[in-house]
Parts: sequence; C-alpha cells; structure tokens
Amino acid sequence: MFDSHAHYDDRLYDADREELLGRLFGQGGVTGVVAIGCDLASSRAAIALAEAHGGMYAAVGLHPEHAEALSPALLAELETMLGQQKVVSLGEIGLDYHYETPSRDAQKAAFRAQLALAERTGMPVSIHDRDAHGDVLAILREFPNVTGVLHSFSGSVELAKELVKMGWYLSFSGVLTFKNARQAPEVAAWVPSDRYLVETDAPYLTPVPHRGERNDSGMLRYTLQKLAEVRGVPFETAERETEENARRLFRIES
Ligand SMILES: [Zn+2]
Repeated sequence: MFDSHAHYDDRLYDADREELLGRLFGQGGVTGVVAIGCDLASSRAAIALAEAHGGMYAAVGLHPEHAEALSPALLAELETMLGQQKVVSLGEIGLDYHYETPSRDAQKAAFRAQLALAERTGMPVSIHDRDAHGDVLAILREFPNVTGVLHSFSGSVELAKELVKMGWYLSFSGVLTFKNARQAPEVAAWVPSDRYLVETDAPYLTPVPHRGERNDSGMLRYTLQKLAEVRGVPFETAERETEENARRLFRIES
C-alpha cells in the first residue's frame, strides 16, 4: 500500500513515531509514504523522515493556511529542498476558502509563485483544494506544463474529467468511506485506472470504522477496500494500481 499524503511530523506521533513507522513498513503492508510539508519547518521535518526511512519520500511547500509567509527567501529555500534526493513533490500548496484568513489574494499569490517554481523545476505538485474548486482550476490552467495530484479530491465528476484531461491525478482519502460521502464514490468509480492514488492525510481523515481515532498508513486498507468496491475490482487491483500510479507520478522506482 502506497500512502501518497501523510503528516508524520505531527506531534500526535511524538510518543511512538519510530515504533509506528517501523511496524507499518515491516508487517504493516506499507510500501511507500510521501511525508508532506506545510511550511519550512514541516518541510524540513518531512525530509528528515524521508532520509531516515527507506520507503519514505518528502514533499515540500507552503500550505495556503501559511500563505502570508511567502517571500523570495522562502521560495529560494524551497527550490534548494526540491533538489534533494528524496524530495519527490512540491506541496502541499493550493487554496483553502473554508476560513477567511489568509486573504484569497495572499493565497493566490503563494499558489501562483509555487506553481511557477514547479514549472521551472519540473516537479510534480500536491494540491490542497478546499471550497475553492473554481479558482484552483482557473489557476492550474495558467500552468499547462505542471501536473501532479489533487489530494483528498472533493470535486464533482465534471471537475474530475477536466483535471484528468489536463494530466492531473486524483487522490482518495478516508473521506471516501464516510456515510455522507456522495461525490467521492462517484468520482472514484469513474476515474481512469492510471490516474488515481490513495492517501491517509494522517493524522486526519481516519476512515470508517476508525473515524475519530488517530490515522496512520495501515488504515489505507479501508479506503482501498472502498475503492475496490466502487470500482468493481479486487482489493489487490486497487492496491497495485494506486502504488503504480504513485510511483509513476512521483518518479519513484519499485
Ligand atoms: Zn495534508
């Protein structure tokens, strides 16, 4: 199982991080994890985790929640980090209109600046899009040479079709297993077999039947089961396809 998006630098893992990761990569059936950065400190932490664990890789970037930290110095440091061996993606970056701050203008500026960096460096991007589908699509269209993955994709089948046509991948999280999930199962049933990934977004978005508990990459099995069910394929097919797709997108050899 390949977890395309997780936050193992979170303090919820401080008490047992090494033991947990050892178990997941050992008996736990986890073959790969992309540790995601949200600002410079968590990006550095993601790189440190990737350097310490064979199956772990890092994404570095500025989450829209921290958009006001954007500066030429920060972009220069991200660019340096993107050159490091186990860094496989720029992210997570994007737009989050769930809260009023930071301002939409500040978020868009940070998003565009980092997409320009992705274009210059050729790095695949991990996108955070919360309640901002229209603006995310419009800004991604400004960068036709950039692709990557929409993490925990929450849009409609129509939006999914546009993004796939533009070369993007869609990633499914534990949200797919929630009782009130409507759009995610429809999109998961539709998405082409070479364009979907699976993720935990750990420690958040824990799938049913463990909703409310701390998430970890072992819980991918519940989301993969649901993916297999809605797609009408065996579990092993969903497991294999999501891993192959993640390795292709992030250019990680088996
Ligand atoms: Zn995340």
